Amino acid sequence: MEREVEELREYFCAGKTREASWRKQQLKGLLKFVKEREEDILKALKLDIGKHPVEAFRDEVGTLIKDINIALDNFDKWMSGKKIKLPLAAYRTSAKLVAEPLGVVLIISSWNFPFGLALEPLIGAIAAGCTAVIKPSELSPASSALLAKAIPAYVDPEAVKVIQGGIDVCGQLLLCKWDKIFFTGSSLVGRIVMAAAAKHLTPVVLELGGKCPCIVDSISNSWLTEIIIKRLLGGKFGICSGQVCIGVDYILVERKQCSNLVELLKAGIKRSLGEYPEEFVARIVNIHHFRRLTGLLDEFGVKQSVVYGGRFDENKLFIEPTILVDPPLDAEIMTGEIFGPLLPIITVDKIEDSINFINSRPKALAIYCFTSNNKFMQRITSETSSGSLMFNDTIVQYAADTVPFGGVGESGFGRYHGKFSFDTFSHEKAVLKRALFPDFWFRYPPWTNKKLELLRAAFAFKYFNVLLVALGMKKAKKIPTNI
Ligand code: NAD
Repeated sequence: MEREVEELREYFCAGKTREASWRKQQLKGLLKFVKEREEDILKALKLDIGKHPVEAFRDEVGTLIKDINIALDNFDKWMSGKKIKLPLAAYRTSAKLVAEPLGVVLIISSWNFPFGLALEPLIGAIAAGCTAVIKPSELSPASSALLAKAIPAYVDPEAVKVIQGGIDVCGQLLLCKWDKIFFTGSSLVGRIVMAAAAKHLTPVVLELGGKCPCIVDSISNSWLTEIIIKRLLGGKFGICSGQVCIGVDYILVERKQCSNLVELLKAGIKRSLGEYPEEFVARIVNIHHFRRLTGLLDEFGVKQSVVYGGRFDENKLFIEPTILVDPPLDAEIMTGEIFGPLLPIITVDKIEDSINFINSRPKALAIYCFTSNNKFMQRITSETSSGSLMFNDTIVQYAADTVPFGGVGESGFGRYHGKFSFDTFSHEKAVLKRALFPDFWFRYPPWTNKKLELLRAAFAFKYFNVLLVALGMKKAKKIPTNI
């Protein structure tokens, strides 16, 4: 493995990956992979997680095509660098920021979006001019195998390697020296990654998870309510069966609104998934996670709070969309990330109490809030902290390339998507060039009263005073003698 990483470093040092034409060619190769192998990708996703092909296209194939095209369209602009204005103290100096590739990077990904979570960061790494190893998840073996087999045929195999394996392989990879590690997964493993990276002072991006709350302010029975319900359910059961880092983890609603909300949610589930949700929702990834999720319902006091669903089939790894009202707050369903199709509703006296509820828990990757009250929106914005905050919809922030995607606090740090991905794998180097004349003599010793006065004026941006002192028209104070 070390040899493979060394080869990637040699290739990076040879300079090929810095060429704009090379980078574009690789991005085009990636696009070709996604387009040409669409059917294989959809099949792999069906095998690994039982994703419906339409959902799989929306969340993986379509999103990747869009994002690679965005990178191709904007790549020249991203690479061109930025001119920077300087203060007069740096008179006759020009400055710009030049993006240089970080080097050899490691991308460790999760199984719930096995193509997107491996290839989205790769788009940024390639655009930035890096070489990369992708370590996809062992929990989505069909998708990982497809990536390992096909990527070398579409993208320069000397620059991008897909290394399959589980914890052991990941552990070995983490022993190597990288220029950046981009990790998507749990906060538990995130800590292991960060500790390993610290040994080589390697910067890391940690795309982690957590519990994403969704506040539902007043619910009326207008036609708009139907849209709210669709968007809310879409952000839970309509995407990988709730096995999503930015999926709705639980709802906060006023007690008096709760029964109305439950009825609307039940009707919404029946409308979109019908009597046989197995057909439209992804399955649970494996038996371990299936038992973890059904086990959450077994904890004391939790099953009694189920108001809808609760049916499951171990052979099919299927769990019915399930709604719970006020499960015990100290039960695991409310203390840990659910990552599955169980949706607790927590009732509060006043909707404003949801702010304290959220703030008494670790910072979320996303907060959602359905409200038409602008004052409440402002309060949520200024009084809570989360990776992203979305009003009146769910998940959409993931697809918006002009906003960064990433966490804060326990939900991780670092960001990507669009230009942010390019920046994540680049070092923005400050490049300055100065004329040799004029030279500000008062920067250098021997120190005098006059030089101190000139420095005082220059650091205060009082350039007229600089002139007066320089011409002897303003008297210089004495250097303090008691120092
Ligand atoms: P995980 O942390 O178990 O695994 C992620 C990756 O780490 C895998 O490639 C796995 O092989 C590797 N790994 C696992 N254990 C390891 C160990 N002990 N040492 C070294 N490497 C190890 O997470 P997961 O089950 O794949 O994903 C679920 C978690 O990921 C959830 O918490 C979810 O919220 C989070 N997630 C976050 C995002 C995001 O974009 N922020 C996206 C998807 C998933």
